[in-house]
Amino acid sequence: MQGRVGLNSSIQELPGIGPSRARLFGRLGIKTVGELLFWFPRQWEDRSECQPVAGVKPGSRVTVRGRLGRVEEIRPRRGLTITKFELTDGTGSLALVFFNQPYRKGQLRRGQEVMATGKVEMRYGELQMNSPEVETVARQKGLHSGRIVPIYPATEGLTSRLLRYAVFTALKACGADLEEIIPAEIRERQGLLPRAVAIREMHFPTGWEQVQRARRSLAFEELLLLQLGLLYDREEGEGIAHGPDGELVASFLAQLPFTLTGAQKRALAEIARDMEGKRPMDRLLQGDVGSGKTVVAAYALVKTVENGYQGVVMVPTEILAEQHYLNLSRLLKPIGIEVALLTGSMTGKEREMVLQRIEGGGARVVVGTHAVIQEGVDFARLGLVVIDEQHRFGVSQRSTLLKKGEACDLLVMTATPIPRTLALVFYSDLDITVLDEVPPGRKPVETYWVSEKIATRVYAFLRRQVGEGRQAYIVCPLVEESDKLEVQAATELASYLQEKVFPDLKLGLLHGRLPLEEKERVMEEFRRGEIDILVATTVIEVGVDVPNASVMVIQNAERFGLAQLHQLRGRVGRGEYQSYCILIGTPTTEEGRQRLQVMTEVTDGFRLAEADLKMRGPGEFFGTRQSGFPELKVADLMEDIGLIPQARREALQILSRDPHLTDPAHTALRHALEGLFGQNWWERRA
Ligand code: ADP
Ligand code: MG
Repeated sequence: MQGRVGLNSSIQELPGIGPSRARLFGRLGIKTVGELLFWFPRQWEDRSECQPVAGVKPGSRVTVRGRLGRVEEIRPRRGLTITKFELTDGTGSLALVFFNQPYRKGQLRRGQEVMATGKVEMRYGELQMNSPEVETVARQKGLHSGRIVPIYPATEGLTSRLLRYAVFTALKACGADLEEIIPAEIRERQGLLPRAVAIREMHFPTGWEQVQRARRSLAFEELLLLQLGLLYDREEGEGIAHGPDGELVASFLAQLPFTLTGAQKRALAEIARDMEGKRPMDRLLQGDVGSGKTVVAAYALVKTVENGYQGVVMVPTEILAEQHYLNLSRLLKPIGIEVALLTGSMTGKEREMVLQRIEGGGARVVVGTHAVIQEGVDFARLGLVVIDEQHRFGVSQRSTLLKKGEACDLLVMTATPIPRTLALVFYSDLDITVLDEVPPGRKPVETYWVSEKIATRVYAFLRRQVGEGRQAYIVCPLVEESDKLEVQAATELASYLQEKVFPDLKLGLLHGRLPLEEKERVMEEFRRGEIDILVATTVIEVGVDVPNASVMVIQNAERFGLAQLHQLRGRVGRGEYQSYCILIGTPTTEEGRQRLQVMTEVTDGFRLAEADLKMRGPGEFFGTRQSGFPELKVADLMEDIGLIPQARREALQILSRDPHLTDPAHTALRHALEGLFGQNWWERRA
């Protein structure tokens, strides 16, 4: 069918794009003309000003304009052809040089007026521009020079130049079809450019200021959509109104071996207010490693139990589930609360029994992995859901769990602290509590980064610390692909160290494949000080808590991410003793070196998270790729951080007036949200 080219047309409808180029575009995820328009330049180059050749400085990148003179073809050796054009502009001349592109001779002719952009160098006594981008002035459409030019993220076979031309024709064909999606009132208040103008200015800016405005307008649009998608259908209904703290909570608090920090007290008060209120609690609890989140979560669990409900704690891995189970049992069993563990590896009778205790209501608190959201897991009366987001769970998993009760309260905990404004993006639907204080008397952990070559000195240091009555951890290299190899490495390391290095000390071994009772036994021995040095895989990353331990040695530290290193380091410095973290590693990448370096300089988890975010970018940092979080095309969460609160305010206002976006004025907005979050995003919680 030969119709007018529109936003939904295949890009093959555009001039110059046939099936093979369309395949290359397809690799970038561009199939339609509309998608092409949203493939934005990564940067722009100012080619609006031509420099007189006489003033050009070697080493700089410039655009010059002049007439072509002599053409020369040189073959200095086999397999190399150099094509040289002389360009003269009245002030001087320089050589345009191409390597192995003899066809250039057919494209450019003596006497033509051209603009050329490239880096200028002084070579063989003459000014040369190597592989410049050249456009003939007579034919030019003002695409590749004489303006601020877009530079696109290109791929094999698709040059920036080709993309530029394709976008140009796409804009010409249907740039006018780009309809507004943000209501006029908001556009005005936020000073946004009309959408069609913003998109055109992104590709072919009429000035630097316009590019900035266009970028801001589109970034705002994207952040607004994101906020709308996340805030949409935020639970507003009636929830459980828990009663005020009673005897059970009192005895829980009374048996704590320490006084709560100010931050913990504030957190408890906020949680109490939420839980006692009618609206369901939706709260995020953030705090650095060691800030004492477990007690806060335990308080909420006790409170729900006191009110006759059950609480559930969902965590991403089995090991974490086991550890939370052990930690919470220690806090809750003494006051008579039964805690149950449910993981995917439980089968048969064991599983049946746990399920019965959950359904019968005997298990007041359940700790588990994804297993807790499966069908067949029925709670007698669920009142509180606690989620530990070591890695993000998808929104749908969260809501599946919430639906096991009626209008449950929700408490989400992050092990990786994130900057507050970003929390507004990724946990947009939650109120935020920050534990910004660690228990008193903690000293920052001194961190060192050393190479394997001085391992013997590290061992000598361990020995001295043990001599002073302390204990130590040695964490084995992470083997991403194979848990089995990891266990093997840990086992070998432990027996090597026991036999050859510390024959007189007591070493312990802890890894994920040990049965739960065995893990419990080893941990208990370590806790009682019967084990001097604990060799472990990353199973100790979380939840292990022995204040007498003062050294954490991490082998092949370059294999770990920053968040993980920080968690591991958080296993020491939990008591009164000065503690040390020794990172052994030889990174092969610059990023790896930076990571270990930053560990030695920064101990604050929030600052570390910011550094991590800068190094890896938000996508990697939040692991959003797995969680179905939409990809941002324009907005940069670091650069545009200031827009986030504004976008959030506008989104809240839209939804307060039109909660289901049924107002015809919001139809385009709704379509855009479907595009971003998938067709049925609004059914997520339904
Ligand atoms: P997080 O989960 O935030 O990393 P934890 O909840 O594991 O931290 O607590 C870290 C350690 O601090 C634990 O040993 C815990 O018993 C202890 N702790 C928690 N709160 C306090 C406090 N107010 N005073 C002293 N120690 C505390
Ligand atoms: Mg913890």
